[in-house]
Amino acid sequence: MSGTRQRCASCGHELAETDAQVRCPACHGLLEILHARPAVTGAALRARFDGRRVENAARDSGVWRFLEAVLPTAAREIVSYPEGNTPLLECPALARWTGLPRLLLKHEGLNPTGSFKDRGMTVAVTQARRVGATALACASTGNTGASLAAYAGLAGLPALVMVPQGQVALGKLAQTIAYGARTLLVRGNFDACLDLAEQARVRLGLYLLNSINPFRIEGQKTIVLELLQQLDWAAPDWIVLPAGNLGNTAACGKALAEARDWGLITDTPRLAAVQAAGAAPFAASFRERFARRHRVEPRTVASAINIGNPASYDRAVRAIRETNGVVTAVTDAEILEAKAVVDGAGVGCEPASAASVAGARQLLRDGVIGREQRVVAVLTGHLLKDPDSVTRYHQQADPRPAYANPPVEIGPTLGEVERVLRSRDAR
Ligand SMILES: *Cc1c(COP(=O)(O)O)cnc(C)c1O
Repeated sequence: MSGTRQRCASCGHELAETDAQVRCPACHGLLEILHARPAVTGAALRARFDGRRVENAARDSGVWRFLEAVLPTAAREIVSYPEGNTPLLECPALARWTGLPRLLLKHEGLNPTGSFKDRGMTVAVTQARRVGATALACASTGNTGASLAAYAGLAGLPALVMVPQGQVALGKLAQTIAYGARTLLVRGNFDACLDLAEQARVRLGLYLLNSINPFRIEGQKTIVLELLQQLDWAAPDWIVLPAGNLGNTAACGKALAEARDWGLITDTPRLAAVQAAGAAPFAASFRERFARRHRVEPRTVASAINIGNPASYDRAVRAIRETNGVVTAVTDAEILEAKAVVDGAGVGCEPASAASVAGARQLLRDGVIGREQRVVAVLTGHLLKDPDSVTRYHQQADPRPAYANPPVEIGPTLGEVERVLRSRDAR
């Protein structure tokens, strides 16, 4: 006997643990779950729980766990939620859609503010504190600002965030304002915001937290270290990630180079950086074997990678070269379809994140990735970052998108519920 059962809180009627009724069949009361008393209790049970906890000196953080690779000299100044410790998911629906049976998803949207930016921000804000910075600033397409606002709040430091007016997803703007950063809606695109932030750094003495700040890169490396650790240090064949300003591409490349140098892994995964077709200067350079740097006027629904002049270009070129990597681009339609499949699988991500999954599928079709290869696609941000993109996709008519799931308005009658159920079966 497992000893776990359900009991009605009103009349005491008991049901088996696996009974699917949600109310008491005798009196309609609410059910509660009862467990048998554990075989061990007290100190022995405490020890059992403690043994299962991930024990680590650096505050249970999926960043600071890798202290030697991040910022070995940091100690008491560390500003941490903690962050990281994100899952590496298997997802049959995505394996089918991409055609890659061994695909895994590293879900960075499950960081404290909903994107991988937290991994870099915990390190860079820690560093800001160590160097005695009194005011922090960044330019952002949304997530960097949201993350900075939160970590500045934790550190008790003022923050200034510059975002392109009208181009930031609702969830990100809400976070930035709510966490208390001074939020500037700049009439210009992200590249203009970054120029302005650089000027503010030089002329106004602000500490800059864009990914040109190398401490951000150190923290973001732990996406790779953590996923390698989750795979017991057996490197996958590919790591696929969305690419905008290219800080993350640079960080992943550096992490892999160090992991190999330091004997953590023997085989180096290949990096695949995926851009949106409307903002793909890096992919254009890759096609010319990096003969020259491109600048474009960016235009994509994936606002987190809507960048025309990526700041970390040189570092990212090195990352692609050193890992025998590739750069590709996918259309907005492909991104939105990939996102709908990721969302519909119960995983969920923001549009830019889905570029990695769309890119993995395309690279298989192009014969670059092999069907049997092990691929980790990084999901960079959370579904709730950009709720407008969800309603727009699912409520669009003419043509209705392939994976549309529009909500249905009905009157409060059982007949209408039945009608909807039948029409769904017929679909
Ligand atoms: C920042 C961000 C990216 C792009 O990363 P880069 O380092 O700018 O290339 C992709 N997806 C999401 C959700 C992001 O927040």
